[in-house]
Amino acid sequence: ASAGRPGSRPHILAIANQKGGVGKTTTAINLATALAATRKRVMVIDLDPQGNASTGFGIPHEGRRQSTYRLLAGEIPLARAALTTEVPGLTLVPAGPDLAGAEVELVDSERREHRLADALAPGVGDADVDYILIDCPPALGLLTINGLVAAHAVLIPLQCEFFALEGISHLTKTIERVRARFNPGLTIQGIVLTMFDRRNNLSETVAEDVRGYFGDKVYRTVIPRNVRVSEAPSHGKPVLLYDTSCAGSKAYIQLAGELLRQHKTLAA
Ligand code: ADP
Ligand code: MG
Repeated sequence: ASAGRPGSRPHILAIANQKGGVGKTTTAINLATALAATRKRVMVIDLDPQGNASTGFGIPHEGRRQSTYRLLAGEIPLARAALTTEVPGLTLVPAGPDLAGAEVELVDSERREHRLADALAPGVGDADVDYILIDCPPALGLLTINGLVAAHAVLIPLQCEFFALEGISHLTKTIERVRARFNPGLTIQGIVLTMFDRRNNLSETVAEDVRGYFGDKVYRTVIPRNVRVSEAPSHGKPVLLYDTSCAGSKAYIQLAGELLRQHKTLAA
């Protein structure tokens, strides 16, 4: 009802950047887990046909039949699509390979930009969740548009590498277009710097550039490049369950803290 109003529940965040390998999925999995650790109820929607978020939560392929695809197709309600995970308080709508076809099939469908928003609308008011995190695919096609139309805000991961800001205007223009045409309340929640390498001067330079460009939209928390973070998905676990005390886990807990404080200030 109060979609877009700060403090409305659940708060729906699209995690988006059309570049692949910048840490979208890693952020979706681990920010969601860190939020759940503070007793927030969280749902992750895997909107990437590669299904990396589903793999990262240890959902086997045969367990992905009630998928995001069927949610977009209007075949099942949100409540049936969401699976429980190993993380208490965290549910996941998995993605199967069928989602790859959706990008094409959606083109001719009714309300093609609103399919995800429409699927969330009936369930969301009374859904037992505080946060929904949508893990978008690495493209600005109809799937990502659906994520942006369904969301209150966008969280943009940027990898600390030389081309971090390249293509960013394409993303911000897409966000503006979605705001103008479909979802006037859409805001940028924040920019999170990922895979920061303290031993590499370039990381520092890139971080400064990004802060210069986006100002205080950039979270103070920086996610370090950390081998435990990259190992965790092969064990089907968020890094917080795989190695609670590693630098990556600490960073995602800190990021969750910043997000929660953002909401307290906005809602006040
Ligand atoms: P995207 O979803 O944007 O394509 P991913 O989250 O899948 O990006 O990350 C790309 C790769 O980088 C993955 O192999 C992931 O494990 C690795 N990775 C992501 N974040 C980190 C990190 N902080 N430290 C080390 N490896 C990371
Ligand atoms: Mg991904």
